[in-house]
Amino acid sequence: MLIFDEKKYAKNLLKKKEFQTYRQKDIERYILIRYLANEGMSTEEIRKELDKFPLIGCEYLDKKDVDIIYEKIIDRALSYPLVTGINTMIFKNEIDVINSVEDENARNLLFVLLVYYKWATTQQQLFFFSKHNNVKMAVTNDMDIWKYAGLMKLRVADRYRLCNQLILKGLYVEDNFKSNNYFYLPFASDAYGSGEVAICINNYDNILGELYIYNDPEHYKRCSECGVVIKKTRSPKKYCDSCAKEIKNKQNLRYYRENADLGKTQTVLSPVK
Ligand SMILES: [Zn+2]
Repeated sequence: MLIFDEKKYAKNLLKKKEFQTYRQKDIERYILIRYLANEGMSTEEIRKELDKFPLIGCEYLDKKDVDIIYEKIIDRALSYPLVTGINTMIFKNEIDVINSVEDENARNLLFVLLVYYKWATTQQQLFFFSKHNNVKMAVTNDMDIWKYAGLMKLRVADRYRLCNQLILKGLYVEDNFKSNNYFYLPFASDAYGSGEVAICINNYDNILGELYIYNDPEHYKRCSECGVVIKKTRSPKKYCDSCAKEIKNKQNLRYYRENADLGKTQTVLSPVK
């Protein structure tokens, strides 16, 4: 679970009215609390919203005990700030290093690692400064990185082989610290690094798309609603799948409302398909 933008994630939770994972729902609850507090809600108002997302195991407890549990959860959630609006800058010299990797999967992996590394080193709980290496090291998150890099189709052994390739080339360094794995990328400049900015990412829904559109602008474009990178097709599609769906829903809603207002049973017009 990698949440680059908690505000966006929380809005989606409220829309879907349920947690999106089973195992990580505590984290999801924290995100929701941070978002609601950030929107200016009082503890009581937050509490009311949380009731829509049941806390499993509390059915048999006294109301007083449940209140204490919620108090602790809210406290813990608010010990971190809401993660939102983080811009990740990728510099031209970094892209040059990435593009010098011949194997496409290894190249994609390195790009996603770079984006994650830069983002994670803005999150105090995800990195530490290694005096030994004189660099910020971010906690590894193989599974999510592989997903974003489109590597889930490969066997696990092959995914690790790609990591090894990057290690051998001196582009990726991993170290163990307090029983966690951390890594850094020797070619990464810090957030305010010098040089020409090639890519600025603020929508993390399609990280790999950012590399594709930079390298091959002929075949990629951006959704005109949310800015996420989409592949150009023969049809003149303007939106990404999720925005297209949302726009269609809104249009259908408007259609039904207008017709209900008129009290008509028009058969000439039909809802947008
Ligand atoms: Zn979109």
